[in-house]
Amino acid sequence: MTNPYDSPPDLAATALNLVDCGIIVLDNEGRITLWNRWMVTHAGRAAARVRGHGLFAVFPELRGGRVEAAVLAALADGASKQVTSLDSRTPFPLRPAGSFDGARIEQAVAVTAFRDGMAAACLIEIRDVSGAAGRERHLLEHAEALRARSYIDGLSGIHNRRYFDVALERELRRAQRHGGALSLLLMDIDSFKAYNDHFGHQQGDAWLTTVAQALAAMLKRPADVAARYGGEEFAAILPDTDTAQALCHANAIREHVAALGLAHAPAAVKPYVTLSIGVASFGAGRLDAASIIAAADRALYAAKRGGRDRVMVDETS
Ligand code: GH3
Ligand code: MG
Ligand code: MG
Repeated sequence: MTNPYDSPPDLAATALNLVDCGIIVLDNEGRITLWNRWMVTHAGRAAARVRGHGLFAVFPELRGGRVEAAVLAALADGASKQVTSLDSRTPFPLRPAGSFDGARIEQAVAVTAFRDGMAAACLIEIRDVSGAAGRERHLLEHAEALRARSYIDGLSGIHNRRYFDVALERELRRAQRHGGALSLLLMDIDSFKAYNDHFGHQQGDAWLTTVAQALAAMLKRPADVAARYGGEEFAAILPDTDTAQALCHANAIREHVAALGLAHAPAAVKPYVTLSIGVASFGAGRLDAASIIAAADRALYAAKRGGRDRVMVDETS
């Protein structure tokens, strides 16, 4: 007796040829018994040429991969499995319809075990997810670009305060683990308010950027970090650098900025733009971010009080 819900065979075949995914049915020996039109247009092989042949004879490169494992499991123990393989997103050599030498389409493959009478059989569905995969990649790249941009100061182009905070915590943990040295420089442009008042805020912005770039260029080691700490204040994190070395770096930076020879406002201490720098190193009393920053800030304040255009080290313990 026929089941009223069974479609006539020609209707089922027509429908299978209309679906927008690849349909392959294998018999219990792994031979192809059904191959729909989508497979013809995307694999470039007519159904008559593959029917009765083993799937892995038609696609030898599937041997040893996740599709083969899923098919063997389906035929052996009736397990059905989704193969959205991560190692290869393009397991079948399939290309967009009508193109047989372009890039492979990205695929989501589902392998489903079923019984055909007494015999095991297996249905393979292949969907083209190139569009979805491309969109996902684009979103990931976009998110990465946003993340990178969120750590950059918009005016000066060097790292911002947020990045500084993260980097200082990371480098302090590293110094604690390895018992290593770490120094922090806090730098502030001298009499910058007078500069703005005299030359205008726009010229002030331009000079701020020049100083930031000069500072970043002077830090040569990959782990060194130059950041804009606030308005006209900058910070440098110097891992594996003790106080004496940091003092040396700080003086080189101060001299380099002075040597740029940018005319300062008449009200400033020197006729050219200068920096004051406070130095503090990881050690007793300066073991966490807050205390090392407070120490460098104290030293910076001492440099200002001492007449500006100078470097001071925090020696308190
Ligand atoms: P001191 O030598 O004590 O550091 O004097 P100062 O005038 O530099 O210090 P103060 O902190 O009183 O003023 C900092 C000034 O820096 C205030 C502001 O005019 C200027 N400034 C801060 N951020 C920016 C900025 O993004 N662009 C410009 N052009 N100026 C800024
Ligand atoms: Mg300041
Ligand atoms: Mg200042």
